[in-house]
Amino acid sequence: MKTSVIAYPRIGKDRELKFASEKFFKGQITEDVLSATAYEIRKENLLKEKEAGISFISSNDFSFYDNVLDAAYLFNIIPKRYSLLGLSPLETYFAMARGYQGDKGNVKALAMKKWFNTNYHYIVPEIDDDTEIRLSGNKPIEEFKEARALGIDTKIDIIGPFTLLKLARYTGNKSSKDFAKALIISYAELFDKLYQEGAEWIQLDEPWLVRDLNEEDKELFREIYKSLLENKKSLKFLLQTYFGDIRDIYSQVCDMAFDGIGLDFIEGRRTLDLVKSKGFPKGKIIFAGLVNGKNIWKNDYSKTLHILTELKNYASDIVLNTSCSLLHVPYSLENETKLSEVYLKHMAFAQEKLQELSQISSLYDFSESANVKDHPIYKENQLLFQGRINSVDQEVRNRVNSIKEEDYTRLPDFSEREKLQKEKLGLPLFPTTSIGSFPQTQDVRQNRQKLRKGLISLEEYRDFNKKKIAECIKLQEEIGLDVLVHGEYERNDMVEYFGENLEGYIFTEKAWVQSYGTRCVKPPIIWGDVSRKKPITVFWSKYAKSCTNKPVKGMLTGPVTILNWSFPREDISIKESTLQIALAIRDEVLDLEANGIDIIQIDEAALREKLPLRKSDWYSEYLDWAIPAFRLVHSGVKPETQIHTHMCYSEFTDIIPAIDAMDADVITFEASRSDLQILDSLKENNFRTEVGPGVYDIHSPRVPSVDEIVNALNAMRDRIEDSKLWVNPDCGLKTRGETETKASLINLVKAARIIRDK
Ligand code: GLN
Ligand code: ZN
Repeated sequence: MKTSVIAYPRIGKDRELKFASEKFFKGQITEDVLSATAYEIRKENLLKEKEAGISFISSNDFSFYDNVLDAAYLFNIIPKRYSLLGLSPLETYFAMARGYQGDKGNVKALAMKKWFNTNYHYIVPEIDDDTEIRLSGNKPIEEFKEARALGIDTKIDIIGPFTLLKLARYTGNKSSKDFAKALIISYAELFDKLYQEGAEWIQLDEPWLVRDLNEEDKELFREIYKSLLENKKSLKFLLQTYFGDIRDIYSQVCDMAFDGIGLDFIEGRRTLDLVKSKGFPKGKIIFAGLVNGKNIWKNDYSKTLHILTELKNYASDIVLNTSCSLLHVPYSLENETKLSEVYLKHMAFAQEKLQELSQISSLYDFSESANVKDHPIYKENQLLFQGRINSVDQEVRNRVNSIKEEDYTRLPDFSEREKLQKEKLGLPLFPTTSIGSFPQTQDVRQNRQKLRKGLISLEEYRDFNKKKIAECIKLQEEIGLDVLVHGEYERNDMVEYFGENLEGYIFTEKAWVQSYGTRCVKPPIIWGDVSRKKPITVFWSKYAKSCTNKPVKGMLTGPVTILNWSFPREDISIKESTLQIALAIRDEVLDLEANGIDIIQIDEAALREKLPLRKSDWYSEYLDWAIPAFRLVHSGVKPETQIHTHMCYSEFTDIIPAIDAMDADVITFEASRSDLQILDSLKENNFRTEVGPGVYDIHSPRVPSVDEIVNALNAMRDRIEDSKLWVNPDCGLKTRGETETKASLINLVKAARIIRDK
């Protein structure tokens, strides 16, 4: 059986591309040096795949920043404000990705959005009425030739025209269908050039097909591919889909002249049923996505072989594929020197997944003439799945099993709590607060590092943070904020911090995954049942409270966000893991309350992230358990204790009722950039929870003026009752400098006072 990889990670196994790019941005290295680094990464990737015996290896899966941006750039979807700067091609490309500020001008970056249901972000192509789509680059051709020079005939991976048009933002009056023709011509021209270079296979990534499609979408898809397929000559087209099943268009796709169809059997839970019920066209190759491109766990060979055997009844030509690009997993376990073999033996990162592809394909071939159960590789694999005894904590299991329906409901009702809280807290109208973190200056990070390296004692570490907290409280008092925070100096990251303090988590050294551009994250791994052995944040919050007479807000991360930003285990459901985390955080909430913290914020920054791609699945597959899991965390507190939550990074206009059902008392969120549209939606939905829509954008160092904040507040007051409106920045301040933070918060308090005085 042949094997295929959709795409390989491209940041470099030691994040070489990140470091080289960052040096390039600072002018420390030349474009040539950066290009040489990029070449080495591509070469190493290709050779690794070849060495593993992969039959279909992709080229053009490399990117200096983002592959959607690559496609936009290739087809001249370059807004004038970038092309007119007069920069080199690569600099223009980076200007689109990151903005440009220098002697040639000052432009902001293009928008960035989450890539489907992943934590990767792509650059949103921007098309205006004058955009002239045409083939204006040769990256795919160059990278194809480069691979051939290394002795590898690749399939050329490129974002498909349909998905590209769907992902773009249209700033004029025209829309996607107005650009289809020009795009078809441009892709055709590219294919022609590739054909002349002797390319055989083109992989067109069309993940948009796994979403809900309307008639117009299907028509657009048909129009594009009818034309491209008619002119493909002897080239072979692989239509590659991932992140779900393509139930809305499966039959049509089967009827079209594709040579291969790539389907996701991991996230596409209906994929196998589709093939079984509708069949698979003769003469075409099915690229079966069975090696998970998103998880870090070993593949269960028996399950995979079972599906392959079933598939054989429907398709005569099967290629074993990854379920999506391997971009979403770290490079290699080889980089992990500290993690015990107990854990490692269960894991597979990108490089190990190559191994799995080739092992499964050999086992499949073997099984055609012998009993695969006798094969040593098969046996070894199956041993791994016979229960991970060490990951079970019976006490935790019992606790989850004994959660009762009423544990998901906080009493009394919100309106009654609101009254009690107003009495107890005695806050002014339009209370002012922040989202939690204060600037993480060099000394703060060094303090944590020193503790980690054993250079200072725990006592010294704590004393330093206490000093920072005392200063932070004093600053907030001076500024005149109403609800204070301790500043989060003990945290590197809002999820990693809790992971490190919970049982059941393990950590890697170098398991970096690209999040966007040169930014990578290192998600903690849920290995076993999660529990909290002792209080985590109480020490800091209690100390902060001792520094002031004003209310101090406790600061926690919610269970859904902790789960969504970790690599989850797969031997139990993510719902069950989330409930375990929820119980642990619930204990922390109750401990904070018992220690006199009257306001507790539980951040759910990533709540929306795992929302299924199809609307029809939103509640049944996600919100129906995620929202109750959040409620479980705070349902045990007294009516007078005020629960806040915070959300950001996403639009949530469409899930307002679900957010209200979290039953927090106050929610703060990112709104300064989303045109206050969300406020209309709050009003329409009779949102009950008190709200603090961010009054300024913390993602930029700019200090908002008092007037600006007053205006923002007035716009909010048109839609939100005065008694429910809070005043705060739109997110945590940890990435900001101290000077701008202070100046911004002073203006924020002034603005709130102006409105109050009216
Ligand atoms: N409390 C966190 C902070 O202020 C929230 C971060 C976030 O929403 N991403 O840093
Ligand atoms: Zn935030």
